[in-house]
Amino acid sequence: MKNRAEVRVSAAAIAHNIFHAKATSSAEVLAVVKANAYGHGLIPVATTALKAGATWLGTALLEEAFELRTAGITAPIIAWLTPPGEDFARAIESDIDLAISSLALLHEISAAAEKLGKRARVHIEIDTGMTRGGFLNEWDQLLTALPQAHVEVVGCWTHFARADEPLSEFTQIQINNFEGKVAELRATGIDPQFVHCANSAATLRGIGTSQNIVRLGIAMYGLSPDVELMGSGSALGLKPAMTIAAKLALVKKVPAGSAIGYGGTAVTEGETVLGVVAMGYSDGIPRDASFEVGVLHNGRQAPIIGRVSMDQFVVDLGSDSTAQTGDEVIVLGEGGYSADDWAKACGTINYEIVTRIAARLPRILV
Ligand SMILES: *Cc1c(COP(=O)(O)O)cnc(C)c1O
Repeated sequence: MKNRAEVRVSAAAIAHNIFHAKATSSAEVLAVVKANAYGHGLIPVATTALKAGATWLGTALLEEAFELRTAGITAPIIAWLTPPGEDFARAIESDIDLAISSLALLHEISAAAEKLGKRARVHIEIDTGMTRGGFLNEWDQLLTALPQAHVEVVGCWTHFARADEPLSEFTQIQINNFEGKVAELRATGIDPQFVHCANSAATLRGIGTSQNIVRLGIAMYGLSPDVELMGSGSALGLKPAMTIAAKLALVKKVPAGSAIGYGGTAVTEGETVLGVVAMGYSDGIPRDASFEVGVLHNGRQAPIIGRVSMDQFVVDLGSDSTAQTGDEVIVLGEGGYSADDWAKACGTINYEIVTRIAARLPRILV
């Protein structure tokens, strides 16, 4: 390995996960590639997902959608987090679909489209119970305003708050609410071609998938939407796509009683061999990660010892270790500690672990 650390992304795993999700319904798959494709690398993942049968791409930010177009990707893209003041003219000219969830946004996008002599392609977001984005109090005004707006209503969608909870009836309540609103929209003569609500959890559970698009995020990356409530990714038939490998920048033998790192929070019990891993919290390794996680060296687990620093952390390789400075270790995936292990050790969820892996690390599609 020539890099100090790198993120390896398995194209086969992504393809498998898309194929697996497609089996649950006849809906088209929208590959959610926001946040640098959940940390996996925007362009390589988008390209892989489209090859594997996804027909749409979804981003939060408009700049992510622009990046996809700049890379020459022509598939339909929805950008769903566009506060007022964004470059809507460029979005319209770049054939990027825009989500709208306020009258203010409708008016701004419509004005940009009118200037260009075009209609903007929009997907109306409806708040059916998540109480985050989406139309709620402005719904009736929206129905009145739409006929005059310079938009083409391509889609209508909502987002689930609790689709990962098998025992919750809330998702069905959201679906009923959604279907009612879509019917009201259709009654005004506006008939969106694409109607979508399912995220990974809903798709895997086969709910909300009777609509014609599913928006697949975490499951495409091979991770479970909720390990406790839905089981692990492998129990769900998914294959994790991310492996992180790093170099041991230094290997050294230390005596018993050595206090390691800032604050000297860990002290060696006996003589041992330590490895300094060339990654830190600026690379997305959580600072509060504990000895419950670490790296894999030659098939053997070496736990973190002491605090994670900005660009490095120390692992205990064991007193009999034969590790050498420069050896490769597996930080995440491939038989080592999984994103779920890291999440558990840091009191968070796998989504946060993978999305925080810094953009400065190279992504290598394998
Ligand atoms: C992130 C996101 C998704 C994907 O969610 P997962 O749980 O990762 O499948 C789907 N739709 C919207 C609107 C999102 O923001």
